[in-house]
Amino acid sequence: MGKKGDNDDNSARKRTLDFQNNNRSNPSPIPLEKCPWCDAEFQRNSFQLLPNTDQPTNLRVFCANRHCHFRGDNPLPIVAVDEPIYRRLPCFIISTVDKFASLPWVGETGALFGRVDRYDNDGFYGPTQLGRGKPLGGYLPPPDLIIQDELHLISGPLGTMVGLYETAIDALCSQEIDGKKIRPKIVASTATVRRASKQIQALFGRSEVDIFPPPGPDRRDSFFAKTVPATEKNARTYVGITAQGRSLKVVLLRSYLALLGAAQKYWLEQGGKKNFNNPADPYMTLLGYFNSLRELGGSRRIVEDEVNSGLVRYSQRKRVGEISGLFVGRKIDDEPEELTSRVSTSDVAETKRRMESTFDKDEKVDVVLATNMISVGLDITRLGLMVVLGQPKTAAEYIQATSRVGRDEERPGLVVTLLNIHRPRDRSHYERFFAWHSTFYRAVEATSVTPFSPRAIDRGIAAITVALARLGHPKMTAPLRAFDIKINTCCTCPLRPSLR
Ligand SMILES: [Zn+2]
Repeated sequence: MGKKGDNDDNSARKRTLDFQNNNRSNPSPIPLEKCPWCDAEFQRNSFQLLPNTDQPTNLRVFCANRHCHFRGDNPLPIVAVDEPIYRRLPCFIISTVDKFASLPWVGETGALFGRVDRYDNDGFYGPTQLGRGKPLGGYLPPPDLIIQDELHLISGPLGTMVGLYETAIDALCSQEIDGKKIRPKIVASTATVRRASKQIQALFGRSEVDIFPPPGPDRRDSFFAKTVPATEKNARTYVGITAQGRSLKVVLLRSYLALLGAAQKYWLEQGGKKNFNNPADPYMTLLGYFNSLRELGGSRRIVEDEVNSGLVRYSQRKRVGEISGLFVGRKIDDEPEELTSRVSTSDVAETKRRMESTFDKDEKVDVVLATNMISVGLDITRLGLMVVLGQPKTAAEYIQATSRVGRDEERPGLVVTLLNIHRPRDRSHYERFFAWHSTFYRAVEATSVTPFSPRAIDRGIAAITVALARLGHPKMTAPLRAFDIKINTCCTCPLRPSLR
């Protein structure tokens, strides 16, 4: 946690103080916005820095709801800051893989692998805090279950470095029981993966892989999961649009106008605001997906200008002789919302919150523009309409991104993919649109992870060697104890003579 005078902008201390000063414009200092017990939003007094705000070592979280169980002397059992996590050692920890980088640098991380031998009411103590607590009479057992979510993201350069660090983690988590080496169980989850056994071998060094649910005798019914034909249940519908002699910008403009105008007409026909279960509601929020921030930026101008002004009088577009027309004019927000890396985390959270409100409420949002940031972790069942600009680079990304709409059987999804006919790859996707979409899981690319390639070893071997030596030998865990390497190497070690 940040200390007084440090200039770390993102310390938990600073985030807490910012939130206490202004809880409207600053995000919650922990990755939760609400009490997990009663769903009441955190307020300024929900966070308490202890023992004082100048040099805090702990952050307590209380619920703001007066009737909730977790207030007063009973804070929420959530530990969200590094120091208390290393001291309290919760039995369930959620983390991202980039935290692996602190293994060689922070001796306290050894506590997560059970390298502690004393305890008191505040928690556990390892070799970095000598002289505190009563002896435990041995070490705690290391973690024995590791869950890796979104396995497909641990690929490429990131996966390669993670694979190297996994070597150290596997060694630190292994224990010997009755002369038998027990390694932790690893459960990895993903919806899009190919050649999973190779990726797992490279990442975790395990040759045995069991796939769950197992395939079973019938490919369509494995007992745990069943394939339902699209004719029986509402499925997601994909539509490909391309236009000869028109730029993709124009196709985007026309598609946005038509989709927003048609949704409005259907929504009004179904009772508009008065119908709380309006079946057109999922299609009132248009989620635009872009392959790059550059394309998103260009399209943002189109939405702010031409879509905005054109939509107001779009009801005038009728076929010859048609009386009512397919579209109804509509006034949308002046600025579309964005879910990208260039907006702040609090704005992203705010947009996600607004996207959940139906169109009978004032907080509704008309257009959201997004990049692959939404491919994971956007789980809003309300959404039903997405427009993808250009075919994404990989099939896995396309599947992950478009699965953000139509997540509810009652609100089937519509994905409109705009393709550039002058680009050979897009054209090929357009020409084989139906065939490719009916089997697109087959097109998921195999990812490559190469932790022991020479370049990866050049970059990462020092870090994992230090992590293993430091955390594996409690005598070398404390800062500056690396000097004792000469004393601590065993007599049979081949390095021994050269170190002298
Ligand atoms: Zn509560």
